[in-house]
Amino acid sequence: MSRIPAPWLKSILLTIYPKPAITRDEIIRSTGLNPASVSQALQHLLSSGTVLKVGELKSRGGRRREVLKLNPEAGYFIAVDLETARIRYALTNLVGDIRYRWEQELEFGKGVDVADLLHGMEMVQRNLMEWQYSRLLAVGISCPGIIHENRRVTAVNLGWRKFPLSEKLEEATKLPLSLETACRAYVLAERWLGCAQGVDNCIYIEIGRGVGAGIVVDGRYLEGDDHMAGEFGHITIDASADDPCHCGKRGCLEAIASSSGILRQYREKSRLSEAEKGRLRLGDVFDSARRNEPVALAVIDRASQALGLGLSHLIVLFNPALIILGGDLLQGEDLLVPRIRKALADHTPEFVKKTQVSVTRLGLDIGLKGAAFLALFLAFQNSVSHPDLIQKLCAPVMETIAV
Ligand SMILES: [Zn+2]
Repeated sequence: MSRIPAPWLKSILLTIYPKPAITRDEIIRSTGLNPASVSQALQHLLSSGTVLKVGELKSRGGRRREVLKLNPEAGYFIAVDLETARIRYALTNLVGDIRYRWEQELEFGKGVDVADLLHGMEMVQRNLMEWQYSRLLAVGISCPGIIHENRRVTAVNLGWRKFPLSEKLEEATKLPLSLETACRAYVLAERWLGCAQGVDNCIYIEIGRGVGAGIVVDGRYLEGDDHMAGEFGHITIDASADDPCHCGKRGCLEAIASSSGILRQYREKSRLSEAEKGRLRLGDVFDSARRNEPVALAVIDRASQALGLGLSHLIVLFNPALIILGGDLLQGEDLLVPRIRKALADHTPEFVKKTQVSVTRLGLDIGLKGAAFLALFLAFQNSVSHPDLIQKLCAPVMETIAV
């Protein structure tokens, strides 16, 4: 480790990492460090390969200014996306590129234990070279269910009730770990790499087996008193409806507009045989609607109407610039999105009508990208509690993979 004070290095790295490119003058202005200190620290970071020179700008006086960026291969993260039916693992670099991935299908009804998770995490590390392995910085996990204040997790599908997940994994991996609910990870991924880059007021809506929201207001993620803000699926969207919700209420948005809600309604109203009902998949309902089958169209109309109405409430309450839709239900994007837009237009007052509605383009990797961002944020923001992270980042990069 060089004799450059760690706080200088941390301050400079914190300034550089969110920017695709930056000049030395901008670093001096942002960090408030004196030019000599910045030069000394940058000399070290450039010679170690942690920071790369990517070009030169000519200023008015003819002076050349170096353009710098963080070396994407200066650090790696393990990202884990715990879904209800499978677990995705990835090894990513500092800018979220997935280097290695691994997937584990979950057996229905069989819980997940720490040994399963450690195996998956090992699988994405097995091709790492030694110099890369020494640059593993942190683990990020996107998790379904509820994360309690002490970072214990309750996720019924994974067989966990107040399970001390962070504690056990940190103990086994010796790496710092960041854990957040899926909707939070998704909205962070959209702000980092997706369509919400630079958008300080945005809401990500996950529409799958459940319906949830990740809400960012004025650049801050909304958590709530019990970290339960964004349980959008459990607003009562139709007080006169009988649709049962697993939360115990009736008429919840999730009971009408989730994938399981749509399947239930179609099974109840269609004339399918019991065997056909058993084989029914969400895609079948969308295919029937595309053939103008009245029952399928009625179920999709109702779900879209409920989603549009619910979104209009979010728009009035939070005044977002952007709403991003994602989740399994978007396999019926062609059917749902125009109907949701129509319902939104019907229910949203003029003074908040400029909210844009988009569909996520991050695809199935959104959970992994969000988990990688959690790890990145932990590594850069919390390096005071993990001083070795700065040392790892600033150690010489022995080799660089072509990016
Ligand atoms: Zn409910």
